[in-house]
Amino acid sequence: MEPIDMRETETLYGKLCGLDFVPNHVLEIMEHLFHSGFDVWLVGGALRDFFSGQAPKDWDLATSASPSEIMRLFPRVIPVGIQHGTVRIHTAQGDIEVTTYGKPGREGILADLGRRDFTVNALALSYPEGRLLDPHGGSEDLRHHLLKTVGNARSRLNEDPLRILRAGRFLGVYGYRIHPNVSAAVKDSLAGIDGIAVERIRDEMLKLIMGKHVEKAFEWMRRCGVLRKVLPELERECRRNRRSSCPFDAYRHTLYTVHNSPFRLRVRLAALFHRLGQKTSVHGAGRRENRSLNSQASAHAAFAVMDRWRMPQQLIQDVMILVRNHIPRNTLRWGGAQLRRLLAAVGPDLLEDLLDLAYADRISGNCREKSLEELNRLRSRISVQMKSRPPLHIGDLALNGTDVMQALSLKPGPLVGEILEQIHQWVLDEPGLNVRDVLIDRIQAKYGGISQNK
Ligand code: ATP
Ligand code: MG
Repeated sequence: MEPIDMRETETLYGKLCGLDFVPNHVLEIMEHLFHSGFDVWLVGGALRDFFSGQAPKDWDLATSASPSEIMRLFPRVIPVGIQHGTVRIHTAQGDIEVTTYGKPGREGILADLGRRDFTVNALALSYPEGRLLDPHGGSEDLRHHLLKTVGNARSRLNEDPLRILRAGRFLGVYGYRIHPNVSAAVKDSLAGIDGIAVERIRDEMLKLIMGKHVEKAFEWMRRCGVLRKVLPELERECRRNRRSSCPFDAYRHTLYTVHNSPFRLRVRLAALFHRLGQKTSVHGAGRRENRSLNSQASAHAAFAVMDRWRMPQQLIQDVMILVRNHIPRNTLRWGGAQLRRLLAAVGPDLLEDLLDLAYADRISGNCREKSLEELNRLRSRISVQMKSRPPLHIGDLALNGTDVMQALSLKPGPLVGEILEQIHQWVLDEPGLNVRDVLIDRIQAKYGGISQNK
């Protein structure tokens, strides 16, 4: 989508933009409100995105109708923020957020726009004409990629410190330059971040992480003291390296890795967390052991953050698997057994993510060429392994729990699972062992004595 040149836009009730870009399910809601005698405007991120040449993601409306009137007009309305006059109209194509401003006419919508956070978010498009209402110069700021608050930065950030995180998110997603007044006002409102619902912080952070300008956004947050509040684990990483002049210290490397990761949330989160535990080095332990301890520590730190952000369990588990099994830089000496163990630990669904993370990690560090070559070799070795369909799950073994119980005269219990786990390790080491009789002989030789005790 091409950005619209808005140089001709007048500041108030200006350019006729039309509503062609608005999908039918949104237009139908606007039409219904309008025909029922209410004013209705398209507002929020959809307009910002449209004028920036990006496809709008979600649709927000502002109307003179009250929440109860909206509930009367539409069959499926969810009162999400009724105290702020916000309801959600459910449609098959997605939910539409509608905010009530009460007073009809120009005064009402102008007051509504005056309450919005940033000038680029304080635009409204009228229905049915499709005329732009831009009382705070948002279109001009959009053109200059500039993020300014509607009104005084200090008081607007103080009023709702979530706006600080929203500023970081808009920088991360659109690369906007944040007006110096906004950056300067942040420190006075930092304490207020503690009072924000964690889900709201999470939502802004996840959007930021998916942005194209993620490292700029994190750097801005670090400089303004926001990072210490929302992701102290990463900020600590940065302080540890403060004296380092290396362009690839752990903090910067982490940001580059997120930046170089594909736009898939679990890879980007794994990239963000993959070095959080890189401080553990146990004296006397080998390199491999230390690496495994570090990955465990990073996975732990990842869990702490995602749990704090109340993220879905499945996503937490997936990201932890990626972090725990993050591929180190030197895999040339890995044997087939080690590869199969990795594949079993990660599983086929996360394999592409793991390799993409490894790629991002390598292009975000030094000695790229050599390690990219090595990663390519690893990729082809993995695909050879996958083609041979190794028994990655316990369910792929040539015998099951009942076979184990029969062979060893065991009753059901955790021991059966442990033995299956051991068999799985044998078979990952040597797939040729995955034959029922061979495995039964093996377990009888190793665990035969156990059966007497059970
Ligand atoms: P997205 O594209 O992610 O939906 P958005 O700007 O539409 O971005 P929403 O959370 O959907 O974000 O909010 C819709 C609109 O409501 C914003 O554009 C802004 O005008 C206003 N808004 C949202 N949060 C705040 C806030 N904390 N303070 C003031 N206005 C806000
Ligand atoms: Mg929105």
